[in-house]
Parts: sequence; C-alpha cells; structure tokens
Amino acid sequence: MAEKPAKAGSLAAVKGMNDILPPDSAAWEWLEDKVRSLMTRYAYRNIRTPIVEPTPLFVRSLGEVTDIVEKEMYSFEDRLNGEQLTLRPENTAGVVRAVAEHSLLYDGGKRLYYMGPMFRHERPQRGRYRQFHQIGAEALGFGGPDVDAEIILLADALWKELGLQGVRLEINSLGQPEERKQHRAELIAYLEKNASVLDEEAKRRLHSNPLRILDTKNPAMQALVDAAPKLIDFLGEASLAHFNGLRAMLDANGIAYRINPRLVRGMDYYNLSVFEFITDSLGAQGTICAGGRYDYLIEQIGGKPAPAVGWALGVERVLELVKASGAPIPAAAPDAYAIVPDATAMPVVLRSLQTLRAAGVSVQMHASSGEGMGSMKSQFKRADASGARYALVFGGDELAQGAVTVKSLRDGSGAQVQRPLDQVDAWGASLKA
Ligand code: ATP
Ligand code: MG
Repeated sequence: MAEKPAKAGSLAAVKGMNDILPPDSAAWEWLEDKVRSLMTRYAYRNIRTPIVEPTPLFVRSLGEVTDIVEKEMYSFEDRLNGEQLTLRPENTAGVVRAVAEHSLLYDGGKRLYYMGPMFRHERPQRGRYRQFHQIGAEALGFGGPDVDAEIILLADALWKELGLQGVRLEINSLGQPEERKQHRAELIAYLEKNASVLDEEAKRRLHSNPLRILDTKNPAMQALVDAAPKLIDFLGEASLAHFNGLRAMLDANGIAYRINPRLVRGMDYYNLSVFEFITDSLGAQGTICAGGRYDYLIEQIGGKPAPAVGWALGVERVLELVKASGAPIPAAAPDAYAIVPDATAMPVVLRSLQTLRAAGVSVQMHASSGEGMGSMKSQFKRADASGARYALVFGGDELAQGAVTVKSLRDGSGAQVQRPLDQVDAWGASLKA
C-alpha cells in the first residue's frame, strides 16, 4: 500500500498573500474576460514578462528614494551565481526592459497590456496586500497627448463595462526635468523655511525627493503642502500645450476630471501627464488605478529613447468596488449535471459528455466516490447545488433504449424529455444557458 503523505500541520499562506478560491475566482475571470475584450477593441496586445527580474532594474527605474525601493521589495540572492533578484513590485519596468531588450519599437509604437501578481512588503490591510494583482496598459513610442487621452478613455470604458459607480479622475502635469528642477529648488527653500512642521520622513526626503513630500498622508503636514509652490506654475509652453491638449480631448469626450496640483505619483520615472482614478467607497485605499507618462524611462534602462504612457489598476480594489457597486457577476454554473445511477454506465456516459462538451455545452459529471455512485436523491441534490439548468439522467432503462432523460431543474416545471444518445450534439446545443 502506498504510504500516506505526511500531514501538512499548520502550514498556511504567507501573510498578506491570498488564495483566490471558487466561487470568488469567477469574478476574477469575469473581470479578465472584460479586460481582454476591451484591450482587443483598443488594439492593445498582451505581453507576459517574468515575475522575477534583476534588482537593479527596479532600483534604476523606480528611483532609490521611493517607498517601493526603500522598503517594499522582496529581494533575494540567486543561490548559484549571487545575482540580486526581486519579485516584481510593479510591471512597467519589466515591460520597458522587454521592449528595449527585443527592440520592439523598431517598426513603430506598440500598445501593450498585462495582468498578473505583484509583490510589495507592506502592512497588510483592506485593499493592501503583499501579493496583489495589477492589470496594466502601456503605449510606447507615442509622444502626443492623444495617446494619453486614449489610455485614459480605455480605463474609463472599463469602469463603465464593469458597472462601477463613483470613480473620479484626477490629473496633473509633472512637466519636464528642467521645469521640475526649478520647482524643486523653490520647494526645498519653502520646506526648509517651515522645517519645524516636517515629520521625520519628510526631513529625510527634503533633499533626495522633495516632490514626494507633497504626497504625504500626515494630517499635520496638510496645510504646509497645500500652500507649497505648485509644479504646474513652473511649466513652460510645450508642457502646458501637452497638458491642455490632453484636457481638450478629455473635455470633448465628456470625461470629467479634477486637476490636482499635488498629484505626484510614487515613482520617479513620470513626466508630463499623471493621473489617478479614485473612489470614496473603499476607505483609505481609494486609488484603483494610477499612471502617467514616462518619456525617459526606456533610455534610462538602456534602450533607444522613446516616449511612453501607461497605467496600472489594482485588481483587488477594483473587484471590491464591483461588489460595492452591485454589478451582476455571473456565477459559474454548468449548463447540465450528469446523473449516473450505476457506475457500469460510465464508459457510455463519458462518451456522451465528450460529445456535448465538444458542442459547447458545459456539463458537470457526478463522479463516483470510489465506493459507488451514491443514491439518486443525493445525486439530484448535487445537481441542484451545482446551479445547472438541466439534469441528464443516464439511468439503466434509458440507456437500454439508447437514450438519456433531460430534466429541467430551474423553471419549476420539472419537465423531462427523453433524447436519443446518437443525436447528442443535435439536442445538446439547446441546453446552453
Ligand atoms: P498606494 O498609494 O495605495 O500605496 P501606489 O501609488 O503604491 O498606491 P501604484 O504603484 O501606482 O500604487 O500601483 C497602481 C495600483 O495598484 C494602485 O492604485 C492600487 O490600486 C494597486 N496597488 C498598489 N499597491 C497595492 C497593494 N499593496 N495591494 C493592493 N493593491 C495595490
Ligand atoms: Mg504604495
């Protein structure tokens, strides 16, 4: 006899990393299907990059003085060659690395999208996990505000398809590095003048990343950052034209937005347009999608210079909002449930079910326990619990006549008809929900 596997003991998932189980996983598939369909209509193509990347990729692209690089990365050493590796905390860096590595822009711009798990060592709470999932869109090789508008319209279309309520858009422009430099000098001078109000983190960032101080969540510093010099007042003509171009296209499409001069985003790589989609229904973790332009990132990681813009949404937060908005997520139920009173019928049953499935019907089979099929009553109970609209009864009498009984489970009629097994595909199509 085979040895029984050792008992798992108290092994559990890593803190902040969740199992996504049925029936909840149906909502994930529903969202992913909607996203795939939408991305196809906007001609964005799927890209899949590794979950592990060399650590320097993130340090170089996100910036050294960012929450992610300072304290949130899961990094480790390759045990064979000592290479520093990191579980991706986001996927723009990976996409840009792949684009540069494979010279994807050699024949023009590319529109790409991805879905997948990301990893950040944060304090787990509602809407904030250590393994979480992002869906992202990136348009690379296009410099004009039209593609910024397109990618924002794409996100907005997704909220509509998902039936989300109360999502608002905030936008800002971070200008260009030269403009940021001037603003930075004035910002530092202003913050130094008010040094007594700064918290420890702000003091630490005062000279390394003062822009991020504007992003502070510390209530004691709100008045200070509200009155700080605004980047938007430092923009030159070209940056303003880009920003106003985006605004005109959003206006023409009826997309409401608020200009938030303090919107700066966590990563260093952004320039010009930045934006966030925010909701008030999720408590503190209200940003469901964030993005912007990153025209210097490709060059920064060693590729041929090319402009780019993108966003990433947090799947867990979006799905929580879907739930809160009451959008109807179809439950995963088979069209039919196969009831098999006698295990000796299984060879014939399996063959019929194969034909049905090939015809597009979804069928759940009542499987034997290993000791028998169970009573008809218990099988009907299972059929009911499965959510199937029909039970297919493969009883001995029916099979003797080369037939199966199709019984209606959901319309209250309990109507049943016999169908010939040699025409399974012909009547099978009528069972599809
Ligand atoms: P936050 O300010 O909430 O920490 P962030 O600026 O770090 O967000 P981004 O890096 O811009 O977030 O990621 C884009 C989106 O991914 C966020 O708007 C959010 O919806 C989601 N997200 C980010 N971090 C997490 C996390 N730890 N758990 C769940 N979702 C997350
Ligand atoms: Mg964060």
